[in-house]
Amino acid sequence: MSELHLLSTQQLITGLQDKQFSSLELTEHYIKRIDALDSKINSFITHTSETARAQAKAADEMRAQGDQRPLLGVPMAHKDIFCTQGVLTTCGSKMLYNFVSPYNATIVSNIDKAGMISLGKLNMDEFAMGSDNSSSYYGTVQNPWNLERVPGGSSGGSAAAVAAGFVPVATGSDTGGSIRQPASFCGLTGIKPTYGRVSRFGMIAYASSLDQAGSMGRSAKDCAYLLQPMIGHDPRDATSIKYDMPDYVQDINDAQAAAGDKPFAGLRIGVAKEYFGTGLDREVEQAARAALKKYEELGATIVEVNITDPEITLATYYMLAPAEASSNLSRFDGVRFGYRCENPTDLIDLYTRSRSEGFGPEVQRRILTGTYALSAGYFDAYYTKAQKIRRLIVKDFDEAFASCDVIASPTAPTAAYKLSDNLDPATMYLGDVYTIAVNLAGLPALSQPVGLTSDGLPIGLQLIGKHWQESQLLTTAHLFQQHTDHHLQHSAIAKETV
Ligand code: GLN
Repeated sequence: MSELHLLSTQQLITGLQDKQFSSLELTEHYIKRIDALDSKINSFITHTSETARAQAKAADEMRAQGDQRPLLGVPMAHKDIFCTQGVLTTCGSKMLYNFVSPYNATIVSNIDKAGMISLGKLNMDEFAMGSDNSSSYYGTVQNPWNLERVPGGSSGGSAAAVAAGFVPVATGSDTGGSIRQPASFCGLTGIKPTYGRVSRFGMIAYASSLDQAGSMGRSAKDCAYLLQPMIGHDPRDATSIKYDMPDYVQDINDAQAAAGDKPFAGLRIGVAKEYFGTGLDREVEQAARAALKKYEELGATIVEVNITDPEITLATYYMLAPAEASSNLSRFDGVRFGYRCENPTDLIDLYTRSRSEGFGPEVQRRILTGTYALSAGYFDAYYTKAQKIRRLIVKDFDEAFASCDVIASPTAPTAAYKLSDNLDPATMYLGDVYTIAVNLAGLPALSQPVGLTSDGLPIGLQLIGKHWQESQLLTTAHLFQQHTDHHLQHSAIAKETV
């Protein structure tokens, strides 16, 4: 039983179906690990162990009565950006230290309906702003591969919890890389779907035109399992789109059944020199290129494409995301919910002190930048200009995709760095250089593990797809994983038994 946490989602489902273990046993196994080991990692903000046990018991009974939902009784956990009814939802901020949500995010309800068991709420950068989980009010998160290293961010708790073997899969959100970059730092697979694929209702908004929820797991197939119940049109999110509903796991199985010894025959992978430029760590580049070589050996063709200069993309993102954030975060005013300062003297004092005391420095920095960009006199010079560049980024991708099916790049320019490196904000923003264009264009993308540095730290390869092509990305990564074992390497914490 000690290895249960190393099983894939597929194996967990089979084990439950074949009565090798019950959902309650599985749930207890994960809870025991979390209780014994999360003091080293700090991946959870809130535990829901008691309700999880009750749900697991109920799941076992339902299965015994013939309930065939595949995910019934499989544990998971949510990034603390998703509203969970009756459960603390902090978004990593002091501002929401006491916010017990009165309703569920759509994806939370959907995952509940699929029968999954939530073990709690996962740590994250405050309001999803950051790349290393250092901005969380609830403490930093340690990378299970090496406790001195950051797990990435903003879904750092989600990545660390999966990599530590505390849950098989977790939800995340991605505004500029927050699923892919922590997946890369923690040796996982993580997918950000097409904008509009997953409802944003009940996901606390950072930058509404860029935010998208997705799934994280060790393999592409694990991600597919969790993503399936998350997708679909939701009338409560005006930006969620009605579109064909794929069956990701089925698509993966079909592709695997059809694959010969050259599974990627006919697949054109675009590689852009802009994504292999200055600032890219040598070992990361080597691992990314070796993975591309493997894709070629397995039948893929590499084609050169051009995409927008990443420096321009970076500037565009760091104009638009804070602008939208400054507007979204105006609702946190200390009046209706969340943190309120002590003894306000008048209304202005209540607003000012609640927001100054409730928001951390990174969030305040973004609100200030965003408010400045949106203010009269600067709006056209900054915001409107950035919107125009955004349009050009979309156009550049359209042109690139005319000659390829997916685009590959390193997910991040480096592997996980040390928390003690204490990056200044501008240096941290540079780490988002390969991930943010995808959000600006609304495209789907995933990160998959492709090796380790000489220090034993995971390296990720990003695959970017055309709109709505999550299935192609998941299938491509899955077939790669059938021929390689990077995704089967485990972190030091995952190897610990309790
Ligand atoms: N690191 C980026 C930022 O801080 C992306 C964050 C995210 O995707 N939520 O904005």
